Amino acid sequence: MKMEFKKKDGILILTILCIAVLTILVHVFIGGKGASKAIVKVNGEIQGVYSLSEDQEIEINHGTNILQIKNGKADMIEADCPDQLCVYQKKISMNHESIICLPNRVVVEIESSENSEYDAVTN
Ligand SMILES: [Zn+2]
Repeated sequence: MKMEFKKKDGILILTILCIAVLTILVHVFIGGKGASKAIVKVNGEIQGVYSLSEDQEIEINHGTNILQIKNGKADMIEADCPDQLCVYQKKISMNHESIICLPNRVVVEIESSENSEYDAVTN
């Protein structure tokens, strides 16, 4: 009888663990990179919107800046600006994070649909 109890406890713990892992996975997939987009603006005008879930390289402003999207993160990998500040900036993936290239007037901004107005309205 004692053995049986232990087994049941084990199953219960495993079930809870599975649910916990699933919850985290669902959160990562829905709230994380799957729902995020990189918005590329030149001179304040939107040039394009790209999904962070698709690995790609984007030529901005006819090639003055090259943005790379890889593993759910956006990173400026090339620029012809003199300061190269945008290239040194960290990869971005979180809502409202941005990479700015002042000399070329290029802005890359992350928008996650997780924090959409929809949430605010339902609250
Ligand atoms: Zn730059």
